[in-house]
Amino acid sequence: MQASYPYDKYKLYGPYFHKVEKRNYVMLVSKEHRSTTAYARYLMAVHLKRILAKEEQVDHIDGNCLNDVLDNLQLLSRLDNIKKSIVQNDMRRCMVKLQCPNCGKIFSKERRNTHLVITTRKFTSCSRHCMGIIACKLQMGVNCDLSSNVIELFKV
Ligand SMILES: [Zn+2]
Repeated sequence: MQASYPYDKYKLYGPYFHKVEKRNYVMLVSKEHRSTTAYARYLMAVHLKRILAKEEQVDHIDGNCLNDVLDNLQLLSRLDNIKKSIVQNDMRRCMVKLQCPNCGKIFSKERRNTHLVITTRKFTSCSRHCMGIIACKLQMGVNCDLSSNVIELFKV
């Protein structure tokens, strides 16, 4: 079907559900040009009767990215959106998956209890025992490979 203004030169296909991004998308096709855009973005553009700028983002107020009704949509600047997602993410604990530089054991710790936050430490070991051994080696100038200490960050 024909898309609405400001996309009235386009034919509208969709909305389609995007499995990976878990959002609804529409395809806009004209003779010269074709593009896909989030359905929420399309609805907001039609509502505001203008094409949205790149830095403008359409946010789902209730956090449900499939609830594409105008009442549930608000326009945010990119910065607002980043701030909002940081607030939501902070509900979860930041964890670090680590490999002990002494014994090689794989373990996890809260990020705030590791050398990524505690800057007076150079590494994070699995136990006090391993910490003592590595600290001793470092003090004696023995070369310790600390590069594989941090494996990945994750949230719980
Ligand atoms: Zn260890």
